[in-house]
Amino acid sequence: GSQQRFEANILLLGAENVGKSALTVRFLTRRFIGEYGDIESIYSHNDKIDGREISFNIWDSLYPQNCGTPESVSDKQLQWADGVILVYSICDRSSFKVVQQQVQLIRRSRKMSPTAPIVIVGNKRDLQHQRTVSSEEGRLFALCSDCGFFEISAAETYHGVLLVFHEVLDLIKESKAIK
Ligand code: GDP
Ligand code: MG
Repeated sequence: GSQQRFEANILLLGAENVGKSALTVRFLTRRFIGEYGDIESIYSHNDKIDGREISFNIWDSLYPQNCGTPESVSDKQLQWADGVILVYSICDRSSFKVVQQQVQLIRRSRKMSPTAPIVIVGNKRDLQHQRTVSSEEGRLFALCSDCGFFEISAAETYHGVLLVFHEVLDLIKESKAIK
């Protein structure tokens, strides 16, 4: 078509074991494998949404980072990213703390545009009986921090994961003033 391809660089952050890789692989393949290992990688995925070609570049990061404090976010990552997905597990309070710290770090950094979107994801919603972070708490923090919010289970469904990536994409388009 006559429209140009739209590129979106999406960075996944959050503590270890929260499902960053599970989310990434779900989005890329629609599947849940179960074990992902400790691989840091940037994946490319082409899609057609509303008639427009989209190139997703997804940086599935490792935690802890090899510089600064464990929750550090590198300048390189923030310079690269058009938008960030911050993942915690609803049954791991310390991972929610990491998300809170990383929001602060990103907001204070000058390496990423202040209009670049952040979407917070509470993952592992299937583990209700082990929940230690309530939906309200997650939603309220996201609201107060001007971030998007979803609770999902990467293990159970593809749909929630798809919504997360499409929301980030929409917000990136808005932030770049492209409709
Ligand atoms: P990462 O370290 O953040 O990349 O986390 P992984 O994607 O490697 O997932 C860590 C562990 O949590 C793995 O054993 C996954 O199978 C598991 N996991 C990921 N998402 C979910 C989920 O939605 N529900 C449940 N029950 N387990 C999940
Ligand atoms: Mg991983």
